[in-house]
Amino acid sequence: MNYNKKTVRDVDVAGKKVLLRCDFNVPMAKDGSGVITDDKRIRAALPTIEYLLEQNAAVIACSHMGKPKGEVKPELSLKPVAARLSELLGKPVIMADDVVGEDAKAKAAALKPGEILLLENTRFEKGETKNDPELAKAMADMAELYVSDAFGAVHRAHASTAGVAEYLPAVSGFLIQKELEVIGGALANPKRPLVAILGGSKVSSKIGVINNLLEIADTIIIGGGMAYTFSAAQGGKVGESLLEADWMDYSNEMVQKAADKGVKLLLPVDTVCADKFAPDAKSQVVHAGEIPDGWQGLDIGPETVKLYCDAVKDAGTVIWNGPMGVFEFPAFAKGTEAVAEALSKTDAITIIGGGDSAAAVQQLGYADKMSHISTGGGASLEFMEGKELPGVACLLDA
Ligand code: ADP
Ligand code: MG
Repeated sequence: MNYNKKTVRDVDVAGKKVLLRCDFNVPMAKDGSGVITDDKRIRAALPTIEYLLEQNAAVIACSHMGKPKGEVKPELSLKPVAARLSELLGKPVIMADDVVGEDAKAKAAALKPGEILLLENTRFEKGETKNDPELAKAMADMAELYVSDAFGAVHRAHASTAGVAEYLPAVSGFLIQKELEVIGGALANPKRPLVAILGGSKVSSKIGVINNLLEIADTIIIGGGMAYTFSAAQGGKVGESLLEADWMDYSNEMVQKAADKGVKLLLPVDTVCADKFAPDAKSQVVHAGEIPDGWQGLDIGPETVKLYCDAVKDAGTVIWNGPMGVFEFPAFAKGTEAVAEALSKTDAITIIGGGDSAAAVQQLGYADKMSHISTGGGASLEFMEGKELPGVACLLDA
């Protein structure tokens, strides 16, 4: 996939109607009060919105929220987003009652340069997730240019993330531009050595990532729950640890593939195991592959921490996806925290992908020490798998 795409700076936006796809899929309070519990995604969209408004574009913003499945669900309305966006911008945000209905069309037609309109939740339309050309065209008809800044949604070929680009010149906003530059750069032309740290819960959800990074990285580090499948495949005792028996052969193949390619593959040498899956579990440190019956590995051990932190010291680039342990329990967050700290100290370009990994780094207080924390969980994983991202592929090549 070509990651070199035109951005808002490469086209003339002044006086133009611009359809801007954002990721305003923000978490809302469960009580239906319409309170946004975290506005990070709205704030992340500000640089592109402000640039477009300063350049005198008329901005028609759109986004999905939740899974209304093609029906109008008032609790998934973007109205609270319009209110918050308006506060952040310090100017009115006109809210449409629909996506491509009479109200949206009328308000888009009347929109003046320097003004911003927000369409309703794109998934209120049945055609959105089906990438229906009719819906895509109806959205495109309101504008003269399409700007995508919803990195969190680019792995989906939906009407508002990919379909519209059939009918309008399409470029990226600043959020997507940075994701492409940093992650795309690390995959296509990394500053070496490239160290990939892979963890999280399951091998099965990371097969594509392991496979692709084995082609690119100099060192692969395995931690988290998936390490126990590797350990069991090598004849280790893993007790009650997370184990995907169906993926044991695959883990051995990956170890072999690494050896054949001369990629260093590091596995845990010790484990912090617990007598139950709970924050207050009893714990002990044991050698990898020697977990007693009835116990389960919930974090990498102190020797492994040393080994892994050492491996990132002289790295040129570190890509990290997947926590080293159950970081949600403070007693089992030490491995993840130590790796985060090591990344904060290295001179390497440090890239965090994956929803839980980003949350872990934020929760542990290392977010501002990383070169880049991807704004898209699923999208960053598919990016690291080397898959084509439909919402990126549809943009104009630079
Ligand atoms: P990401 O979202 O960053 O791609 P994953 O979704 O793959 O990461 O994995 C995150 C989850 O993995 C966390 O909720 C964490 O508790 C869990 N996890 C990590 N290590 C273990 C382990 N040893 N046993 C069980 N779960 C684990
Ligand atoms: Mg996850």
